[in-house]
Amino acid sequence: MAPIISPTERDTLQGLLNNAQQIIITAHQNPDGDAVGSTTALQQVLRRLGKEATIVMPNDFPDFLRWIPGANEIVRCNKQADEAAALLAKADLVFCLDYNAPHRTGDEMGTALTTSEAKMVMVDHHLDPADFCAVTVSHPEMCSTCEVLLHLMNAMGWSEGLTHDEATSLYVGMMTDTGAFTYASSRPEVYECISQLLRCHIDKDKIYRNVFWTGTEGRYRIMGYLLYVKMELLHRHHASLITLTNQEYRQFKLKNGDTEGFVNIPLEIDGINLSVFLREDTEVKGKIRVSTRSVDDIPCNEMCAEFFNGGGHKNAAGGSLMCTLEEAADIARKAIAKYGK
Ligand code: 5GP
Ligand code: MN
Repeated sequence: MAPIISPTERDTLQGLLNNAQQIIITAHQNPDGDAVGSTTALQQVLRRLGKEATIVMPNDFPDFLRWIPGANEIVRCNKQADEAAALLAKADLVFCLDYNAPHRTGDEMGTALTTSEAKMVMVDHHLDPADFCAVTVSHPEMCSTCEVLLHLMNAMGWSEGLTHDEATSLYVGMMTDTGAFTYASSRPEVYECISQLLRCHIDKDKIYRNVFWTGTEGRYRIMGYLLYVKMELLHRHHASLITLTNQEYRQFKLKNGDTEGFVNIPLEIDGINLSVFLREDTEVKGKIRVSTRSVDDIPCNEMCAEFFNGGGHKNAAGGSLMCTLEEAADIARKAIAKYGK
């Protein structure tokens, strides 16, 4: 494996850390398992190294991640706006985890980051990292930011004394970003990392159940409804399109994170290689959130950049549109006609 960080960057990072007084750790909007896992892991590691750090996220994370050690301390801009703004304003070192550009944290936090005087450190695995950090540790070949972080910790000497809770957080990100090791996880290093985490006595089977087997009734009711009533299969293009309205969201009494992972399900159908999931944003009126998944060489990230103001990884990407759900579905059909095969 190529070195995770050059010797010069290693010294720069250690220097930044030694001098920092007010550290915050941030992640992208609509934080997922990798975002919560990597930020909570880093917070615990920094504490172990004698540094205090606060995690600030743009908005809520799904309920099935609440049990993660340290998750209950996360400051959310949408809920604790004043506290988050004050933390961002006085920070002198900001860790940017699981995102490659300030705008991925949303308008409010994105602006705060862009205008901040703080030094930034990126730890991420998305393609095309923007140039806004003093140290950029970006490895798109890796399965998750948690994997990047563990290699970084090893290189920095921070994983000596890796704790059970740190290892648990890191495992969550690796597990969720790979669909429990069903995609983006064929590199041997992934399993070397897992071995390292298992040596800290994490209970990987329990972590799986905590994340994947704690769904609400509404999640399974609407899963049935979406697959039976709403899923549109565009067989000619080997693709699937599912839409979800806010009215349906309320009707099924859904909670944050209840539709997580639905976009993956149509890929289980023989002959379907591309899946698009559109949902009305529950907070911003007129905004449609787009999630896409594909297999093999269908580039979801290019499709999202071209049609949905977004990007991401080759087989898992997203974006958003400002229009009605019907208009978004029409755009999605055009995108599918171009990219589906
Ligand atoms: P999800 O479908 O789980 O929301 O997102 C899948 C992946 O797509 C994320 O890991 C992220 O890399 C990428 N992604 C989602 N939304 C956006 C977006 O608006 N812009 C960019 N550049 N990438 C996105
Ligand atoms: Mn990630």
